[in-house]
Amino acid sequence: MSSKELADETILAGGLGFMDDSYRGVIPGVYPSTTYERAEDNSYPSGKIYTRDHNPNYQQPEAVLAALEHGEQAMLFSSGMAAATSVIMALKPGDHIVVPKVIYWSFRNWLQTYASDWGIETTFVDNGDLSELKAAIKPGKTKLLWLETPANPTWVVDDIAAWADIAREVGARLAVDNTVATPLLCNPLDLGADIVMHSATKYLNGHSDVLAGALVTKVVDDHWHRMANIRASGGAVLGPFEAWLLMRGMRTLAVRVKQASNNALAFAKAIETHPKIHAVMYPGLESSAGHRIAKKQMKGAYGGMLSIRVRGGESAAIACAAKLAIFKRATSLGGIESLVEHRASVEGEGTPCPADLLRLSIGIEDVNDLINDMKQALEGS
Ligand SMILES: *Cc1c(COP(=O)(O)O)cnc(C)c1O
Repeated sequence: MSSKELADETILAGGLGFMDDSYRGVIPGVYPSTTYERAEDNSYPSGKIYTRDHNPNYQQPEAVLAALEHGEQAMLFSSGMAAATSVIMALKPGDHIVVPKVIYWSFRNWLQTYASDWGIETTFVDNGDLSELKAAIKPGKTKLLWLETPANPTWVVDDIAAWADIAREVGARLAVDNTVATPLLCNPLDLGADIVMHSATKYLNGHSDVLAGALVTKVVDDHWHRMANIRASGGAVLGPFEAWLLMRGMRTLAVRVKQASNNALAFAKAIETHPKIHAVMYPGLESSAGHRIAKKQMKGAYGGMLSIRVRGGESAAIACAAKLAIFKRATSLGGIESLVEHRASVEGEGTPCPADLLRLSIGIEDVNDLINDMKQALEGS
């Protein structure tokens, strides 16, 4: 059976049937060798030469990711940022990109500082505003539109298909950061995007113990070859053990995403009306601004990320985080354990993030324990 006929759960659990060839072990081994021997005839029988260009431990997770995202090929990177910045570095000086204002904070900072230094110009537009996007296009110069949805940390939802239509009209590519939705809940390539990016550090690995990134392409083209070259010659490659660990984490992606999504929805509903809560930002809530588009482009669930705004402003939000016992006060997201973070403290000056906002990464614990933890923190702070 080709992977096109298999459900995501089956692709992940079985890992597309990769095995250890030496011993028929059902789990492939870790290949730490940095270099590969030539045959007497001077050829490379395995096709492998040096590990910065290829490592056998990339093959399985890349094949699985390409299958899940319905793309032609996938590429692992040493981090999500390495993957994202490679998409931009594959452009040329003078090229222009359009990006929404609310996106992953470090990437926004990088675009504002480094990309502009190298002659790649960025226009930031309001999330959800297609007329502003159209007005930002510079005909002949705009080569890339970048989207992250649901977007960190307010979880606003942008319409991938509408952005893809505009990208096509102006001859630009659309890249989508699909870290938060995961391929289980959204497939941007099916909606018209050209490239999908993941911080594999988050849900794909899912255990808060590997830093990794990935790109998936709809078609292998010139831009993809440039990004592959940037990875191999720039050297932002993942180590073999990290690639192996990532694959082990990915095997349970489907059950983790299901549990985290169910938990997040139940949690959002349970605390939405709490007197100390000013707002719950979660695209799964019918009352949320992004729900209509999320329902259209996501696959029946809305992921494990949400934010709350605590009545009483910044100090009340920080006091609430301090009282939480099950949620750990830490950055990052997409792990099995629930995390809480006061984002404005991290993002600092210029952040579009409200001061009373706490970002919650809902894990796979029992949801009633999480709800009770939040209630005692709100009431005791
Ligand atoms: C974490 C994250 C990134 C950056 O990934 P790293 O693996 O930390 O480099 C990019 N986008 C989103 C949405 C993220 O959550």
